[in-house]
This record gives sequence, C-alpha cells and structure tokens, in this order.
Amino acid sequence: MQLEPTEEQLLVQRTARDAAERLLMPKAAARDVSGEFPVAELKELAGLGLLGVAVPERFGGADMGAVAYSLALQELARGDASVAVAVSVTNMVAELIAAHGSDALAQQWVPRIVSGELVAGAFALSEPEAGSDAGAMRTTAVKVDGGWRLTGAKQWITSGDHAGVMVVWAVTPGVSSSSGHSNLTAFVVPGDAKGLSVARLEEKMGLHGSSTAQLVLDGVEVADDQVLGAPGRGFGLAMMALDGGRIGIASQACGIARGALEAAVRYAQDRRTFGQPIIKHQAIGNMLADAATWLDAATLMTLRAAHAKQNKQPFSQLAAMAKLFSSEHAWKICDIALQVHGGYGYVRDFPVERALRDVRVTRIYEGTSEIQRIVIARNLLRGNS
Ligand SMILES: Cc1cc2nc3c(=O)[nH]c(=O)nc-3n(C[C@H](O)[C@H](O)[C@H](O)COP(=O)(O)OP(=O)(O)OC[C@H]3O[C@@H](n4cnc5c(N)ncnc54)[C@H](O)[C@@H]3O)c2cc1C
Repeated sequence: MQLEPTEEQLLVQRTARDAAERLLMPKAAARDVSGEFPVAELKELAGLGLLGVAVPERFGGADMGAVAYSLALQELARGDASVAVAVSVTNMVAELIAAHGSDALAQQWVPRIVSGELVAGAFALSEPEAGSDAGAMRTTAVKVDGGWRLTGAKQWITSGDHAGVMVVWAVTPGVSSSSGHSNLTAFVVPGDAKGLSVARLEEKMGLHGSSTAQLVLDGVEVADDQVLGAPGRGFGLAMMALDGGRIGIASQACGIARGALEAAVRYAQDRRTFGQPIIKHQAIGNMLADAATWLDAATLMTLRAAHAKQNKQPFSQLAAMAKLFSSEHAWKICDIALQVHGGYGYVRDFPVERALRDVRVTRIYEGTSEIQRIVIARNLLRGNS
C-alpha cells in the first residue's frame, strides 16, 4: 500500500502552500472583518491551476487528480478557509460540467471557469425548504420552445453573488426520472442571466470572506443545450457531485484544524505558567496529543477517499466517513487550540477563534453529520463497509 504522495502531487501541494502563505494568510484576519470577496486571489489561484486541479487538460484543467486536489485544498484552508470554500465549489462545478456536460457545453464553460475568467462557479441545489431533503425542492423548470423557464428561489449559495456561472437544479414536471427519486434536472446558468437576482446575503458566524447568497429565479430562460446530463437526471448528478464535494469539505476541515493546531503548539511553547512552558503541563500535552492524533486520522481518511475517487473505485462511503470524521474532529481540534490559548484564544489577536467559527459549518454543508451517518448506515445495510 502506497501512502506517500507522488512528486507531482507534492508539487501541487507546495504550490498551494506557497500561495496560501504568500497570498492568503497575511490578509485572512482582515478579510474576516471586512468580508471582502477574494476576486484577485481567486484569479491568482486560477493562474496556478488551482481552480481546476482534477479537471481534464482538454478543458484547461491541471488534470492532477483527486489526491492532489485534496492536498491543495488542505493548504488553502490552512491559509484562509473562506477562500478555500470558494475554490472547493468552483473545482466541483468545473469537474461536474466537464464530466457530465456535452463536449460543446464543457468547452463553452469549463476553460473559462478554471482560467479564473468567470471568477467562481456556484452550486445551486439548496432551497429555503430543501436542504438535507433536496428532493423537496420547489424551483420549477417548465418546457418552452427551444429551452426551459426556471422559477423559484435558492438558499445558501456559496459565491452566488459573484459566480460567472452556476449549476441550478429544478423540478421538471412531466419528465421521467432516471433515478426513480425525483424528476430533477440540472441546468448551467450564467451568473448574469436575465431574471436571476440576489435577494439577500447571509451574515454568518464564520467564513466571512465567502459570500452566501439567496437567489431568486424569476422566469430565467435556459436553452436546451445548457441541460447538464439529460432532463430527469439531476438528482443522480447532485448526489454524485456531493460525493466528490465531501472530499473537498473534509480537506477544508483538515486544513483549518492543521492551522489551529500549529498555532496552539507554538503558543504552548511560548506561554509560561508556574515556571514552565504550558506544553510541559501534562493536561495541555494530552489535549495536543489527542488533537494531533485525530488530525492524522482525518487526513488519512480524506486522502484515502480521494485516492479511491482518483482510481475510479467506489468512494461514496469513504467520502461520507471522511467528511463525518474530519469535520467532527476538526471542530474539537479547533476548540482545543482555543482552550490552549486561554483568554487569548477568545479574542481576535490570535487566529484560533476565527478557526473555530470557520470550521463549524463543515459539520453542516454538503450534507450534515446526521446525513453522513444515514449514508454510511445505508451502505452498511447494502453490505458495503
Ligand atoms: C455557509 C453555507 C454555505 C452553503 N453553501 C451551499 C451551496 O453552495 N450550495 C447549496 O446547494 N447549498 C449550500 N449550503 C446548504 C447546506 O448544504 C444545507 O444547509 C445543509 O444541507 C442542511 O440543510 P438545511 O440547512 O436545510 O437543514 P435541514 O435539512 O432543515 O436540517 C436541520 C437539522 O435536521 C437534521 N436532519 C434533517 N434530516 C434528517 C434526517 N433524515 N435524519 C436525521 N437528522 C436530519 C439535520 O442534520 C440538521 O441538524 C450551504 C450552507 C451554509 C450554512
């Protein structure tokens, strides 16, 4: 069993680490306060190939696979989790259109996404009344001459106000469903489409540099050739994309936790109480030991899921387990990192309070922890361990 990354994967990791330390870390605290969307940073990351890490070369991607993608995203999240989530969703959208769009559709959009021309991609599945239960969505696409007309609202859409292009899911009445689940269809919609507007931007606990938009679709017209896959195949596409997306969120959780743990170890060596550095107090050492152990396990699980995806092996179960374990333990690791800082952990002078706020949502988006457990248990029932 090979556990070492290849030279090429290490190169992608180093590129991302350098970009995170040079471009993201110095501004992360200020971005947390200003909430400024990282347009310039995303363009620069695009120039380094980081918006299409696993996208085939013929669509302008770096074609480096899911392991390199995970390594890169961990580094970016260690630098600034807000930027990392925009990168994660953009990679997910580029991969989705490249894999399931017609060649013409992929050629139309993917090179412009991965080059940074479109700034970001967005994934518009959730709605005010449909998050975990995506099949309950109400946005509807009705057939018109030469295309479809979309009407409804989307909730929680990462980069929804900045995205040059998004994949939007809608119910398509009268279209039979391939999955037997719900007759959903996925559409590729330009960010400046007529009838598409931003109803509100959420004020979040963390990830302040990532925008989260409620979108309204008021009769948005989409041509037939902008359907992703085929009409009625949307539910399956969403579930497939989320399987891959969960590796991204697990990577993000690991990256945030790594940054917090590094800060805690540094602090515990500098801060002295009762005549010695606090890391020498066994209680502090034990907390850091637990955190380091959980982080190693989370990272290995995440890379294992990425390796399976890259090698076209079944990975849905591995991705759900990696996302569940990484996000739940990253939260605990960030809490430990804050505790190690004492009162200084609770204020903005140190990065750990931001890490704790930023990491919290990894237990919620792209399937809550409760939904990951449902996926895992369902797979166990089917005999897939
Ligand atoms: C910052 C942020 C960014 C996001 N970005 C995007 C995005 O880009 N695109 C997008 O489409 N969505 C996005 N989301 C939406 C996210 O995926 C949903 O919030 C998430 O899936 C949960 O859905 P919900 O909020 O409707 O909660 P609900 O589905 O209402 O769940 C509420 C609670 O009930 C639990 N629950 C629900 N069903 C079950 C069940 N069957 N068994 C046990 N427990 C259950 C949940 O785990 C949760 O604890 C984002 C969310 C946030 C907060």
